Amino acid sequence: MLTSDMKKNDPILEVKGLKKYFPVRSPLGRTECLVKAVNDVSFQLYEGQTFGLVGESGCGKSTTGRTILRLTEPTEGEAYYQGKDVFQLKGLELQKIRKQLQMVFQDPYSSLNPRKRIGDALEEPLKIHHLGTKKERIDQVMDILDKVGLSIEHFYKYPHEFSGGQRQRIGLAKALVVNPKVIICDEPVSALDVSIQSQIINLLQHLQDELKLSYLFIAHDISVVRHICNRIGVMYLGHIVEEAPTDRLFSEPLHPYTKALLSAVPIPQPNIKRERIILRGEIPSPLNPPSGCVFHTRCPMAIDICKKEVPIKKEVDSNHFVSCHLYGG
Ligand code: SF4
Repeated sequence: MLTSDMKKNDPILEVKGLKKYFPVRSPLGRTECLVKAVNDVSFQLYEGQTFGLVGESGCGKSTTGRTILRLTEPTEGEAYYQGKDVFQLKGLELQKIRKQLQMVFQDPYSSLNPRKRIGDALEEPLKIHHLGTKKERIDQVMDILDKVGLSIEHFYKYPHEFSGGQRQRIGLAKALVVNPKVIICDEPVSALDVSIQSQIINLLQHLQDELKLSYLFIAHDISVVRHICNRIGVMYLGHIVEEAPTDRLFSEPLHPYTKALLSAVPIPQPNIKRERIILRGEIPSPLNPPSGCVFHTRCPMAIDICKKEVPIKKEVDSNHFVSCHLYGG
């Protein structure tokens, strides 16, 4: 559905120049320095599609998701949902948009009250948004339980009675119960066994087709995002260093960091050998990021300029962007 602020083919969600810095304070409350968790991140998510954000822990991908939903306030930047800047909204307008933008967390158990039956927990978001009568709310919860592959009897159970995979289905149900348009999935399968991971990914894809959902899918494992994402942004130390359609990123990765991530993905054909690229050292602290290209302290391809100059983002091929001095002169 298009709003008056939106044109056909506009992204449903567009993030521009997003920055999120956390102040580190002294015992007296003075700001000593800043942790630059997200530093100038931009991307677009189109209706009915999935945009993946991948990178090691601490690269800023989850903070990006949380900031878009204003679970933490941005330092700078814009985030347009259907043409409206979420960061400028207040009061009722913000509450309305929050209904459209939901989040699924890695550990849904922590957001569930152990003393509340699942049915009651799922009814809660409907109450918060003042939706429906009691009967309508219960009907909606039953319908959503069915959609995520659970049954009516699960309505009366408590969180500890569910397995990890079932809990993630409940997490999904909690996000879906208010009929959102966009779901930010923050490492939704990372804590699950591989066989359960594929069940949840298949469920997400099925629900996307049925309910016309758009996903921002956050994961540290690049092989997980391959099967669900139309487009992927690779994040390193608060920056998107490469962004491309999924097939293109997997077949022709350009950035040395993307190449290193992909070199760790197993290939199903045993006769094909791929050289594993082992990165030196740990991801540097966002408290004191390296000068120039933030990846230069670990990059096997680094040249002199990398320590001094920040590489600018270039479109190397149609819709394939990279920030690296090795490309585009
Ligand atoms: Fe490596 Fe230099 Fe490219 Fe950064 S700019 S990824 S250090 S080659």
